[in-house]
Order: sequence, then structure tokens, then C-alpha cells
Amino acid sequence: MLSYTAGEADVPLLDETIGENFERIVERFGDREALVEASLDGNAAAARRWTFQQLNDDVDRITRGLLAAGVAAGDRVGVWSPNCAEWTILQYATAKVGAVLVNVNPAYRTHELIFVVRQNGMRMLVLAPSDRNSDYVAMGREAAAECPDLTELIFLPVPAGSGISEFTAGEPSSREETTWEALDSRAEEVPASALSERAASLRQGDAINIQYTSGTTGFPKGATLTHRNILNNGFSIGRLLGYTEYDRVVIPVPFYHCFGMVIGNINAFSHGCATILPARGFNPSATLKAVQDFGGTSLYGVPTMFIAELALADFESYQLDTLRTGVMAGSLCPNEVMKRVITDMHMDDVAICYGMTETSPVSTMTRAGDSITRRTETVGRTMPHLEGKIIDAAGLTVERGEVGELCTKGYAVMAGYWDQPDKTAEAIDSEGWMHTGDLAGMDNDGYIIIEGRIKDMIIRGGENVYPREVEEFLYQHPSVQDVQVIGVPDKKYGEELMACIILKPGTEPLDATAVTEFCRGRLAHYKIPRYVEIRESFPMTVSGKVRKIDMREEAIDRLGLHG
Ligand code: AMP
Repeated sequence: MLSYTAGEADVPLLDETIGENFERIVERFGDREALVEASLDGNAAAARRWTFQQLNDDVDRITRGLLAAGVAAGDRVGVWSPNCAEWTILQYATAKVGAVLVNVNPAYRTHELIFVVRQNGMRMLVLAPSDRNSDYVAMGREAAAECPDLTELIFLPVPAGSGISEFTAGEPSSREETTWEALDSRAEEVPASALSERAASLRQGDAINIQYTSGTTGFPKGATLTHRNILNNGFSIGRLLGYTEYDRVVIPVPFYHCFGMVIGNINAFSHGCATILPARGFNPSATLKAVQDFGGTSLYGVPTMFIAELALADFESYQLDTLRTGVMAGSLCPNEVMKRVITDMHMDDVAICYGMTETSPVSTMTRAGDSITRRTETVGRTMPHLEGKIIDAAGLTVERGEVGELCTKGYAVMAGYWDQPDKTAEAIDSEGWMHTGDLAGMDNDGYIIIEGRIKDMIIRGGENVYPREVEEFLYQHPSVQDVQVIGVPDKKYGEELMACIILKPGTEPLDATAVTEFCRGRLAHYKIPRYVEIRESFPMTVSGKVRKIDMREEAIDRLGLHG
């Protein structure tokens, strides 16, 4: 039997835009709760809360504000902020206005921000208030000064919560700068009818979102997704989780990634579920407190997040028995962790999702009732309406049980990489198969077992890092002659980065502190190498390729990082 499967097609795909879907849900569940944003001070009574009707009213005001600002369908509007309610409102407002929302990782620094602003010709950037770690306002201004297409900065308000003094929102100081509140007020400038006119002009196949994935060629690539891609993917995941309007989904994963905005928001809202935001960034105790305070029935996370929650000293003190399900994704889950999530967190039906940004994101998922073994050793089977196969180096489908490259086809495959047709053609073949770069096998029941990665990628605490991007950056250091970045095992983050550097003759030796200094403020923290090693040469293959696998093994021995 060959390693090919097609997912079930029992329920038809949704044939509507994200805005149309949301309007239908608001009509059915207008009075039910849609969004809860926990207060920063942990005071449950101070949480901000919206019903579907209230959320839609806020979305429509921002949509009209965007119309008043002259945002056309297809314009790129960036969002650069940790999780907050305004992120959700902007996600739906840009979908209704037909703009392409560009998710910018809040850990990005100017170097990366300027790259993405230029790459997609972004015209507007909505950005978080500055905080202790990130001066978003100053960095946004720097990007606007360098990128003439970026003509508007919108400053988000400081988060709610008493005694919060560590935030500074941007104060508009030019015609190109506006506050979120002022954007909201601009709703008055356009009639409500402008909303329905714009809605009628949008199509399900229109691009609606760009998410940058760290590129193998040294720079991130903008995976471009349509309404059809992400609406149907989100909706299908919720169907397999058995979501109803009584579910309350706790989202500690970031919105800038599909995990937050698709598996989280779109999935939940398309089934009338409430979404609960525990904190701006991941915080294990705030997450469990949000489950307890707001009655979460479903909880998300990458395995390292669940590990951190289970390790809390006061874990036993949280009331978690409202939970019944959830999603774990991003990397493989250790057996013991899965067992504890099911027993100690009451998440009997927790599912494993596997996928990638380029497939909107989920392409395989475990099903209700799957055994613990299936939920730790496999990543489930092909999602409804999608096809999956495993191929060998010649592109032929392999027999069941043999390992090869996993490929995915169907509605969830992205429209392409923004403005990079050659890169798109490398990833999606002429028959529409997305080549994932992951090595996998398929068992006789169609369940997929991930075996490794063909691509040279490091996953550090759920964040993907392509070594090439960090290498390109380190090449800019005046002492660096050559550099290779590898991943080494790490108990806390799964993997950590190591930079192996050959110095230019006559330069001072570099250590980890000097490299960190060089990267700080310019490169996202998770891309900064933890280890630095100075070498005379790199081990090479006969064909002249650096043997990174050997370097990794040597490093593990030297640092004593064996499992
Ligand atoms: P991203 O585009 O950030 O969603 O990352 C996609 C990559 O993460 C995939 O190509 C896999 O290498 C890895 N990945 C995602 N989900 C899983 C999972 N459940 N188990 C193992 N690896 C995963």
C-alpha cells in the first residue's frame, strides 16, 4: 500500500469570506461571550470582556476607520504587538476591509522589521506601546524613516490593569502618526453603508494575511494566505475538537503565528466559542489562572509551554477541571507530558496538530478517541479535504512504513510566498503539492510519524530559526570570516543555537557575550546564539558542504549535552 491518504470530506468547505462568516456567527450568538482579556494585574473582575455583538461593533468601527484612512483592498497593514484584544479586532477589521494583515513577530528588531516592511510594501503599521524590553515606538519610527511606502503608524493604547507603569504609548508627533482611539473615531467619517459595499467586493480567494517564515536563503519569506485558506483550516480544527458555542478557548500562544490567529481566533469564532487571553506573552501561571478564572474548556500550547505549566510549584492550587480538550503542536510531545496533560489538567481530548505556516497551518491532526500512543508517537492523520503523501528523493510515493518527505495538497496550501515566485515554485510543485521539508512515515491506518527535518531548521522553544538567517547577520561582524550556526539540545527550550566562528586573521577573539552584544536590539532574542565556539576550520564533505551534523555531535560531546 502506498503512503497516500485523503482526509474525510463529510462536511463541505465554507465558501465565504472571513467577514461573512463572522457576521453569520454574530447573528446566531450575538449575546454570548466572544473575548476575555485578562487584566495584567491578575484581578479577574478587571478583565476586559466582549460579547460577539460588542466585538463586531468594535471591529466595524475600526473597519470604517481604515476605510476613512483610505486603506484599499489588497493594501498591506502590519501588526506588531504581543497578544491583546486590539490584535483580534484588527485581524477581523483588516479581513472586512480586504487589507492584507502582515503579522510581525513582536520579538523582531529594526533589522528584521525594515526587511518585512520593504518586502511587502507595507503602508500602515499598528504597533504596541513601548515596554521595558522593546521600544516599539522608536523602532517603528526608524522603519518609517527608512521605508517611504510606510506612511502611517498607529499607536496601540497601554494595556488595561491598575498600576501598570512600564508601558509608554506613542504620542503622535506628525501627520503620519495616529492613535488607535483616533482611528476608531474616524469611523464617523464614512457611512455604515461603505462597509457592505466593501464586503460585497471581496472574494474568498483574496490574499488576507502574510506571515513571515524564517527563510533558508537567509531572509524570511512571506507565506501569503487567503480567506479560504485560514477560514477553512480554523473551522476544520474546531470540528475535530467538537467545538460548540459553549467552549471557551484559552490562547497563550502568539497571535503573530497561525497557532494564535487561526487555530485560536478563527477556529473559535467560526464555532461561536469564546477566546480567553491570559497575558501578552506566555506566562505559565497567568495561563492556568485564566483557565480557572474564566472557565476555560480548551487550552493550547507547544509542548514546552505545557511542561512549564506542569512544573509550577503551585500547580495543584489551580482549579482546572473545566478543561476537556486543547491543542498541542509545533514539536513532538514527550509521553510523560501527554499523560500529565490528560490526567492532571483534565484535557482528555487534547489533540496533536502538525503543520506549517504555508499550509494555513494544520495538515494532520489526531482524532477524538485516539490512544495516548497515537498522540505521542504520531501527529494524527490527514485533515478533512486535504491530501497527504510521502515521497522519496525521486518524487515517487513510498510504501507505507518507509520514510520520505511529507507533502500536502488541497485548499490549505498557501497562495505563495509574497513577491517570490521562484521560491514558491521550489515549495509547491506543478501539481499543487506543498513539499514540507519534514521527514515522515505513514502507518497502515494513515497516521503520520515525524522522523526529522530535511531542511536545516532549529526549533527553539517553539520558534523556528533557519541558521542561514543568523549566519548572514553574523557575517556583518568585522571579526567574522566564516560562521556556521547549529542547534544543540537544551532541556528547557528543546534546542539552543551555537555559532561556530572562524575569525579574520589578526582580530580579537569573540565570545558569547560579544556576539550577544552585537545582536542585541537588532535580532530577535530567540535567534541570538547561546554558545559561541571559535574554530580554525569546519568539517567538510568531499563535495564541499559543511558537515553540520558532525559539528553538532562534537559540540554535544564537548558541552556534555547528552539527553
Ligand atoms: P511553522 O511554519 O512555524 O508552523 O513551523 C512548521 C514546522 O514545525 C514543521 O515543518 C515541522 O518541522 C514542525 N512541526 C509543526 N508541528 C509539529 C508537530 N506536531 N510535531 C513535530 N513537528 C512539528
